[in-house]
Amino acid sequence: APVRPQGLLDGLDPDQRAAAEHDSGPLLIVAGPGTGKTRTLTHRIAYLVAERGVRPQECLAITFTRRAAEELRERLAALLPDRAGQMTVTTLHGLGALILREQHERAGLGARFGIADEARRLEVAAEVAGSEAEGRRLLARRGEGPDDGTGDEETARFEARLRELDLVDFADLLRLPVRLLSAEEELAARYRARWPWISVDEYQDVDETQYALLRLLTSPDSNLTAIGDPDQAIYGFRGADVGFFLRFAEDYPSARSVQLTRNYRSNATIVDAAVQAIAPASLVPGRALRAVGDFRDPPRIGVHVAADERAEASFVARAIDRLLGGTSLHSLDSGRVTEDGDDTLSFGDICVLYRTDAQSGAIISAFNSAGIPFQKRSHDRLLARPGVRALAAEIPHHPEGPLTGRVRAAVEALCARHAEDPDQVVDLRSAGELAAPLAERCGADLPEFLSALALGAEVDALDPRADRVSLLTLHAAKGLEYPVVFLAGCEDGILPFRFPGAERGDEAEERRLFFVGITRARQRLYLSRARVRARRGAAADMAASPFLGAIDPALTMPVDEESATRRRPRGRQLRLM
Ligand code: ATP
Ligand code: MG
Repeated sequence: APVRPQGLLDGLDPDQRAAAEHDSGPLLIVAGPGTGKTRTLTHRIAYLVAERGVRPQECLAITFTRRAAEELRERLAALLPDRAGQMTVTTLHGLGALILREQHERAGLGARFGIADEARRLEVAAEVAGSEAEGRRLLARRGEGPDDGTGDEETARFEARLRELDLVDFADLLRLPVRLLSAEEELAARYRARWPWISVDEYQDVDETQYALLRLLTSPDSNLTAIGDPDQAIYGFRGADVGFFLRFAEDYPSARSVQLTRNYRSNATIVDAAVQAIAPASLVPGRALRAVGDFRDPPRIGVHVAADERAEASFVARAIDRLLGGTSLHSLDSGRVTEDGDDTLSFGDICVLYRTDAQSGAIISAFNSAGIPFQKRSHDRLLARPGVRALAAEIPHHPEGPLTGRVRAAVEALCARHAEDPDQVVDLRSAGELAAPLAERCGADLPEFLSALALGAEVDALDPRADRVSLLTLHAAKGLEYPVVFLAGCEDGILPFRFPGAERGDEAEERRLFFVGITRARQRLYLSRARVRARRGAAADMAASPFLGAIDPALTMPVDEESATRRRPRGRQLRLM
């Protein structure tokens, strides 16, 4: 029998283990949410290195967000403390940046080229196009799509101007490497030889350019492990194409496919509701998903109907307050609500999900009045600050770096300390001696720190360790899990989303978003909606989301603030239902 390092694969079930132990050649892991895809990926990489003599430098693991990359690095470091640091764990944009850094001369870039964030990109576009409005139109035409050579004269001038400034934008991070590797087969072959073991998480959401890059980095019989769930494809609106996932077996004909059907994340009520919700639009024939986690006596899914969005937000705030034992609103008698009698819930265990960022305002006000600590994406604002931007644009970037939430926290702290008006005063460049210790505090060198600033994405602004309620769009919630989830705005027009007066959008993708939202919850799920909501400045009557209708009423129960906050008699566990 093969010798296995004690415990390395012990935490996997037989299907997961089969995937982790898969020999060489392409592998497709297709599985629903919470079935341990990401966990299996981590263990597979560790197993290959610890057991199969694969060199860590030969492993390339690609995740969807920087935060996911950070988490993967941490988990790999826990399994292989000595060798995890030698692996390349990054996002596709990070990978593009790494290749460009190495091949900068071929790409016509300086050794220290900068990465333009959205604000800088718009500045350059406005300069080329003559006004900010025209600049925006230029950027929309350029898009992030594949390099089809149809760019108009103005977008060509935009690119030329970026090159003059020795800048690349996010689209370039993928397009330029694809251009380089397609033009020079020998170069592509070198990269293929460098990373013979590639794994890609969330493969259902790759777009055409990303797909092209992956194809260049692999051959049809490569050791490529692709992991994903077509029913969680939610980035079609910006060019992702689940078709690449669905045709994996054609692109990699020797591929073996493994399905995982046991959901460890959520209790049976949540899993059943999720399966019902996705059924009308499932892209996975015969989708199987069943709860196997150790959850006793799962509560029903709470459904709350509020008069308006303020009332909805106040419901969420009060329910959270009550879940945590009233510590934030008022000091009531006893201790906190516990899960199964032992774990104590805290703010960090809770997330509030919504379809559109506009919904967060009401929730933030309610949280501020209730004294509930929260964290929300703030990356965009952060990078828009002139000082941070100046710094990020002028100092060379390093494509790697395990920093996300910590970087943000450090910069926020810096801003708070040194700036009354953060937009004015915090110029990290002129405060050069500040920036280096700051990077140090984050455990990184300066280029790494700056690169982290430039490459951050929405979800990356979250610090997984902070004891705060997370406020997230449904898109940003991909891959994450929380013991308690509130999904706000379950209304027709919000979820599925539709601009007021506009045609229906991609309703199947909206349903998949709903599915993603539900399946973030481990123990408790609340679906709320408002009867009236301000839309484009006017009060609109809102009907319930048609997606709610797919869930068997036996799995849900109406909750109002009263029942959500009523305490049970002593001796019994409080359960929000
Ligand atoms: P998503 O589609 O949402 O990304 P996923 O398939 O990647 O989900 P993971 O995040 O890897 O799922 O796992 C979900 C949860 O289940 C995690 O908390 C993980 O630790 C747990 N889990 C997975 N496999 C097992 C197992 N064999 N035993 C115990 N817990 C497990
Ligand atoms: Mg995952």
